[in-house]
Parts: sequence; structure tokens; C-alpha cells
Amino acid sequence: MKNYFFKRYGFLFLILFYLASAGISFSQEMQALIAYSNGTIIKLTEDNRKSIFGDENLQQKDLFTAYGVTFNISYQDVNTGFNDPTLGSQRKAVLQNALHYVASVLNTPGGRVDINVSSVYLAGQYLANAGPIVVWYLPLTPGINNGCVSQHLLNGSVDPNGPGYPDMQLTVNWNYNYYLGTGDPGPMQFDLLSVLIHEFTHGIGFLSSIAYNDSVCGGGSRPNGTGWTGSQPDIYSAMDTFLVTGNNNYFINSSFYYIGQNSYFVGGDNGVYCAGPQATSVWGTRPRIYAPSTFACGSSISHWNSLGGVMDPSIAPGVKKTRIFTF
Ligand SMILES: [Zn+2]
Repeated sequence: MKNYFFKRYGFLFLILFYLASAGISFSQEMQALIAYSNGTIIKLTEDNRKSIFGDENLQQKDLFTAYGVTFNISYQDVNTGFNDPTLGSQRKAVLQNALHYVASVLNTPGGRVDINVSSVYLAGQYLANAGPIVVWYLPLTPGINNGCVSQHLLNGSVDPNGPGYPDMQLTVNWNYNYYLGTGDPGPMQFDLLSVLIHEFTHGIGFLSSIAYNDSVCGGGSRPNGTGWTGSQPDIYSAMDTFLVTGNNNYFINSSFYYIGQNSYFVGGDNGVYCAGPQATSVWGTRPRIYAPSTFACGSSISHWNSLGGVMDPSIAPGVKKTRIFTF
């Protein structure tokens, strides 16, 4: 009986076994990275998850809705930073104000964002560092990938990277004198609201994914001109597809191949501009992108060329720049 069964159905079993093993070998394993606004790119693994996002058991959660967008915030700080016994509640209020403003601009009701927040105290470094988690599956489908914040905002019912990961990470460096109100900062104070709106705007996809000098800037080995995964064609941020030089040469073509030159990154082809139709229409002409002659990791190509809005590359103390579309 047994033998007959195998003879009769053995071939079918072989096919089923082949399909099952094929299913395993082609199973879509999620690839993930975090793209910090200082240019660093870190590939996410099970091993580094806890060191980056903290111990979930120690996190304090905040859930609130603004303009139909649900913000799910996890604070890693314990008795410091956003959970500082004295200043914590004021700092959180500024964070909520920033998200409120971003949600009002985006107008994506039904969206959701999972944000993980942490703090550092570092002398002489960034004010804040943030960025989206970007996920993709192999084999890679080239195209636009603005990261999980953007995807989760546009479809609140599908968590693009699952419940184990936030959509973005935000780290604030409290080693500065911050203004925590909604008015104007004092002459020596950095306006926290401006800083946070800036970082969230990077988080929603206002950033370049294009590698340049990646061994120094990104901490990886992606060849110049490649996107998130370091391959060709690749997945790029939407912003990258709008990057164009003053001589009208694009960085990325419509098939998501890099077609630029190294000189483009340092303004060598008559500067860098944004050819996005909406930005061009608001500004009146293509707004200029920050691309100084010495490449600045994380700053070059990912900001406006100091046009007065919140996405300028830097902010001085005493200055308030809160508007995304100020120009
Ligand atoms: Zn920035």
C-alpha cells in the first residue's frame, strides 16, 4: 500500500516539494536600513535592533492624532531628554506641535507614523539627527522609495515594516540651549520647534538616497550614484528623481539608473536644482539645492540652498524657521 501510494503520487510529491523549496528559497525577506539625516546609513538586523531602538519594555508611549494622522511615539529616554523630570513635558509639547504642523501641511488623513525618540548629550555635534527606516524586498524592484514614514502616512492600515520597527528614528542632542516655546527664541537659543519640523520633514522623504563618498559619509561601500541599496538600477527617494543641474542634466533617469557625474554633487555642472513641478511652481523657477564645492555629508543634496525655509541646511541660534513652504 505504501509503495503503491508513492508510485502513484510520488511525482506529485516531488512537484509539491519542489514548489515548497522554491517558495522557501524565493521567500521575500525584508531588507531594512535607517537613513540618518547626517548621512549615516545603518543596515538593520535582529542584532542591532535593540541598540538602536532601545528596550521596548523601558519605552514610554504617546499616541495622539492630528489632522487625521495617528502619531505613535515611543520615548527611549528614562528620566532624561524628553522624559527629563523638569523639562520633559515642555519638550514633548514642542514635539507634538511640530507633528501637528507637519500633519497640517501633509493632509494625509488616515495615515499613521510610528516614531522612536531618543536623546544624546554631545558637545559640538548635530542639533538633531533623524531619518526614515527604508525597507525593500529581494529581488529588488527599482523605483521610488521614500521610506516607511511616507508609506505609512499614505496607507495607515498597512505598517510597511511590521510592528517590530518604527517608521522613523529621531535623536535630539540636548547639549544646546533650546527655546521650548512657540514664540521667538532668544538670541542664544536654538528654536526646538524649527529643529524638529526640519527633522520630521527629512523623515517623510525630504532627503537624498544617492550615495556619494559613501565610505566616509554613509559608512558603507555603495558606489557613487547608487541609491538605497547600492545597486543599479536602484530604489531612490522621489527627491532624487527631481535633482537636476543648472545645465539641465539629471542625476537619475526614468528607469532608475544613475546618469550623473561626480562633479554634480559639488555643484560642478552649474549648481543643483529641484525640478519637482510643485516646488518649481511655488518658487517660480526651479529652487536651488544645497551643493557646496566641498561635499558635506548628509547636508549636500538633501536641503535647499538656504532659501529661508525650514529645510535649509542649518539654523543659527535666535532664528525661527518653521515653515516647510516658506518660499
Ligand atoms: Zn537637515
